[in-house]
Amino acid sequence: MSDHWNSPAHPECTLTLGGTRPVNRVFCIAKNYEEHAREMGGAVDRQAPFHFQKSFDSVVFGPTVSYPRMTENLHHEVELVAMLGSGGDNLSLAEAESAIFGYAVGIDFTRRDRQAEAKEKGRPWEIGKSFDESAVVGPVTPKSELGLLTRGAIRLTVNERLVQSGDLSQMAYQTVELIAYLSTLQTLKAGDLIFTGTPSGVGAVGSGDRLRAEIEGLSPLSFELI
Ligand code: MN
Repeated sequence: MSDHWNSPAHPECTLTLGGTRPVNRVFCIAKNYEEHAREMGGAVDRQAPFHFQKSFDSVVFGPTVSYPRMTENLHHEVELVAMLGSGGDNLSLAEAESAIFGYAVGIDFTRRDRQAEAKEKGRPWEIGKSFDESAVVGPVTPKSELGLLTRGAIRLTVNERLVQSGDLSQMAYQTVELIAYLSTLQTLKAGDLIFTGTPSGVGAVGSGDRLRAEIEGLSPLSFELI
């Protein structure tokens, strides 16, 4: 477990950097990079973003993450994660920017085989996306140190081999637009995490693999899958 975090159980799941902030909900944006949307056989929806949620207690911090049950095709998705320090309804882009407390590097683990079955049956993605230890989050860097993060390299290595590489500027919807969108649907709150989508290069990992996720300007996230 990272010393930046302390996660016994909700609602005591707390971020200790910058004060105690409970992790609230985990929103994940789908298909926010054109190349990734294409590799999944789809396209970015330019009308509106698309999202799903993971359970708050799916959040883990390493240094080890357990390979989940019920899959033989666990995929990595490296993503920029925004943590909210405040919330609200129907936020403007400026209000959405003000709501961001900080940023971290995250992995949205996906049971791709289960997700594919769900898609085929026209069912929600939940079985493929929301499971124990499926949301790995690195140390949070406050926005006050960085400003608004809209560009910078995002990359993932597995056993020191580069597998995902992109730039935050390739996001179809920027973080503030995603927050504004989510705030039209429900009241956003401090402690909400927003996974902002993954660049191309997703693929399978297995027990014993070492993952290192990096975003320019943020502390890296490094862990072993066991
Ligand atoms: Mn994702």
